[in-house]
Formats: sequence, C-alpha cells, structure tokens
Amino acid sequence: MQSHTMELPRLIVIGEKNLKEFGRFLNSLNKPKKVSLISGINVQKILKQKIEKSLKLSQIEFAWHTSKDNHIDTLKQIEIDVKKDHSNLVVGIGGGRSVDTAKLVSFNLDLPFVSVPTAASHDGMASPFVSVKSDKPHSIVATAPFGVFVDIDIIKKAPAKLLASGCGDLIANIIAIKDWQLGHKKIGEYYGMYSADLAMMSAKIVMENSHKYSKEGLDARVIVEALISAGVASCIAGSSRPCSGAEHLFSHALDKISPGKGLHGEKCGIGSIMMGKLQGQDWKRIVKTLKEVGAPTTAQQIGVTENEIIKALMIAQELRPERYTILKEVDMTKKRAFNLAKITGVI
Ligand SMILES: [Zn+2]
Repeated sequence: MQSHTMELPRLIVIGEKNLKEFGRFLNSLNKPKKVSLISGINVQKILKQKIEKSLKLSQIEFAWHTSKDNHIDTLKQIEIDVKKDHSNLVVGIGGGRSVDTAKLVSFNLDLPFVSVPTAASHDGMASPFVSVKSDKPHSIVATAPFGVFVDIDIIKKAPAKLLASGCGDLIANIIAIKDWQLGHKKIGEYYGMYSADLAMMSAKIVMENSHKYSKEGLDARVIVEALISAGVASCIAGSSRPCSGAEHLFSHALDKISPGKGLHGEKCGIGSIMMGKLQGQDWKRIVKTLKEVGAPTTAQQIGVTENEIIKALMIAQELRPERYTILKEVDMTKKRAFNLAKITGVI
C-alpha cells in the first residue's frame, strides 16, 4: 500500500465576540514571542485595535503587513517583509486573500500559520490550499493551518452574499466527489471514502436546510463549521479532490476569461449546476438550493456574458489536464457548451 500523509489543524476555536481571547489562543498553540499579522486595509480598520489589545494582554509582540492582491509578485514582497520580523507565527486575517497570503508565506518561511476568517465565502480557512494569480489561475499546496480562530459575530456582519457564496463552494463537493469516483474508476486514482463522505456531509447540510434558510436567513455558525470540515476533508484526502472537481475548473476558467467577475463560491455554484447535468445528477435541486440560499444561478447575475460561459466550459479541463473529471468524457464543442448552459438556465 502507498503511504498517505494527513496534516490537520491542531486547534480550532469558533466563538462569538471572542476576539479578546485571541492572544490566549495563540499562547495555547506555541507561545509565540512575536507574530506577523497579514490582512487587508479594511479589516485592519475594523479589527486592528481589538487584536492589538488582546495580543498586548498576552504579551505577544506583533507586526502588521497589508495584502493588496494575490498576485505572485505581491506575495513575494510580503514574504520578504515577514522574514525581517523574525516572528514565530504568521496570522492571516480576512475573507480569503489575506488568509491565502499568510498560508503561502508561512509555508515558504517554514513557520506555523493561523487563519482568522472574517467572511465565510469559501472553504480555504482550514484547507492547505492557496489560490494564486499568475499566468494561469491555479492552486498551490501549502500546509494546513496550525490553528483556526473564528469570531462568528464578524462573519455575521459581512455582506450576506459572502455566506451564500460559501454555500456554493460547499455544494461543489457533490460534483467533486462524483468526479473523484470517476478518476478512481477510470485511471485507478486513490479514493478516500472517509474524506469523501466528510466533504459530502457538509454539502448535504446546505442541501437539506436551504428551504429553512430561505425563510429564516443563513445560519452562519453551521456554514462556518461545514466549510471548516470541508477543509479538513481535503487535509485527510491529502489533495483538494473531495472539494474540487470540474465545477472548480470551470470557476478557474472564468477567473482567467473574465477576471474579477463573481465570487469563487458563486462561480463554483453555477459550475455545479452544469457539471451536475453532465454527471446525470439532480441538477435542478442544485439550482433550487442555490436560489434558496441567495446564491446566483445565472451568468447575468455575476456579470458574465453568454460567450464567456461557453468559452469557460470549453477550456476548463485544459487548465488541469491531470485531474480526471466528467469533462474528460465529453467532447465539449461550442454547440455542446451552448446547449448545456442553455438547458440549465445559466444563459
Ligand atoms: Zn472552492
């Protein structure tokens, strides 16, 4: 049997208005003398004081770094700056980009990393993967966070569309797992039943509760827990397989064709509708669920044109040829792509 490594987060705290305990949380991890904090400018405006107060109480020194974008050059610069801090831990505070930046920087500098998500728009808060913008959008494997610290109060105050986007990223697991099974069957890829089931469970929670959410609003805590356990499923699988299939390739293709349009989870949700149809799954239920959680289901809603959708469907598999997905089994001509998007109501 081939050996298999599972790297997992060591400590996960989910609380409400608990930012004052952040310093104590870090001390319980590795008693850092100094930490490097990476976040965007808006997050700093809102949280800087509270975080600094908590760190000072715990006698932890700190240095702030501002993340502007996830371009490879920006990441390199932050890495150079963080290195000069001589800190014992890197913390990423933000909706996605800052957490990704901190994840990659800490990996390259061989330092432990803590994620403090301020929005729940995708499953990166507990996963070992980083999405990077360079000539071609892709994911890099780094290390799993050493710790994850969540203040649900902050997540609740973020715009509702971010949480809805998180639901889209969870629904994507339904497609990803089917693709993984296909890869196992067709090319003998390793398939981890436990991590697959765990990732599936977090998708099911959204599918089964969406009707309730449409009336009472999204349950931030449940969705955060689902996103964390999806990230943990990737850690157990040792790859992004349980959470990323053809629908993610479609989302990456849109990142390339129409950069800046739609959120990651929104694009994965729309991709799930079409890939679900290709896989012979109940794609209409996916549409219904996305609508109920308030996530977009059409190209128009995310400001993408009909042609961009068609092109994304046609190039998606090429972005990652080694990943076996349903798109390997279809000759995605322009006409087929058009029909698929049309039948599913995406265009
Ligand atoms: Zn994702």
